[in-house]
Amino acid sequence: MLSDRVSAIKPSPTLAMNTRAKEMKASGVDVISFGVGEPDFDTPENIKEAAIKAIRDGFTKYTPVDGIPPLKEAIADKLRADNSVEYRPEEIIVSCGAKHSLYNIAQALFNRGDEVIIPAPYWVSYPAQVLLNDAKPVFVETHEEDSFMLRPEELEKHITGRTRALILNYPSNPTGLTYNRAALEAIAGLALRHDFYIISDEIYEKILYDGAGHICFPSLGADIRQKTILVNGLSKSHAMTGWRIGYAAGPSGIIKAMSKIQGQSTSNPSSISQAAAVEALRGPQDFISGMVSEFDKRRRYIIDELNSIEGISCIVPDGAFYAFPGITGLLGKTYNGRKVDDSSGLSLYLLEEAHIALVPGIAFGAEGYIRMSYATSMDNIREGIKRLKTAVAGAE
Ligand code: PMP
Ligand code: GLU
Repeated sequence: MLSDRVSAIKPSPTLAMNTRAKEMKASGVDVISFGVGEPDFDTPENIKEAAIKAIRDGFTKYTPVDGIPPLKEAIADKLRADNSVEYRPEEIIVSCGAKHSLYNIAQALFNRGDEVIIPAPYWVSYPAQVLLNDAKPVFVETHEEDSFMLRPEELEKHITGRTRALILNYPSNPTGLTYNRAALEAIAGLALRHDFYIISDEIYEKILYDGAGHICFPSLGADIRQKTILVNGLSKSHAMTGWRIGYAAGPSGIIKAMSKIQGQSTSNPSSISQAAAVEALRGPQDFISGMVSEFDKRRRYIIDELNSIEGISCIVPDGAFYAFPGITGLLGKTYNGRKVDDSSGLSLYLLEEAHIALVPGIAFGAEGYIRMSYATSMDNIREGIKRLKTAVAGAE
């Protein structure tokens, strides 16, 4: 018998789709994957060199649990320069990826029965992490016509005496949309009035298009800074998903509690990855703009193509590397003898018949949509779109 806790959650659907696509590829099927969201760019050479140097120098032992001081200083400098927020080293913790920081926040903040508000569509791991920590996810729907920004009046309706936190993510995975200042200020006002925390996952802040700006949540004011735990990491900005470096910044009491949990669970993130992360933050940053302009070309292509398909309608994302097309026009029809009624059915049909992998909207709490990561080559995108068009043509 396994614990009730683990029985309450499902495996990460984004990672599961990645595994499934890789298995099919390994067995000789030519799968085009729009599944997992990770930059297809290689980690820059200077960052790799810093890691190799760390190994050669014997920087291969335990480090302080919450991260080495030079990395915490580099993060503090980054937060000051990019985000206009001041954090002291004791207000910063480095973890094994942003996912790990988020998990430690949940461990440090939530008690049994606490309610945690999650705007839908949401990234798949938020509800699971809340459940793993005996708290209750409370979903608030957002709407495409509001660019998927939370309506303050709808948020307010879901606030109760048990509301402990709201998890915000912008630019958003899966919608690719971001928040404007007015919307963020309205949320901050409610958090202060009703005294709950904002967990602000800003991991896609560097991946923005068409001159869209990023407003860091704790930069909204001194009061809200005290009620915010900011989460970020290097996976997306520096193409470092496998290195497992993320971080959180917030009130020192919460950060200290996270460090205590980390010290009894994982200990420090890899010493070698931390050395590489110092170089990532201190070294040249031009890699990012090169990567973003490549994503931008793919974004324009894939959104135009998707919108040219009858039955699909796709918003233009401001950031991240996901297309989030509405697919209700494709549902309730029969394709090659197979009836497709929902986003899961469509995803399965496309995987099995067209050999394209993507994630059904339902995994993000949004039926009627699918998510396609365009962090893959232009050639793959072209071929994948061709297959998609063929697969949905001639529906009955
Ligand atoms: N937050 C969001 C919204 C994400 O898309 C991801 C990527 N899976 C993460 C957090 C976690 O990133 P990582 O653990 O690789 O730092
Ligand atoms: N951010 C990616 C995604 O959503 C990575 C996979 C994951 O960690 O869930 O696909």
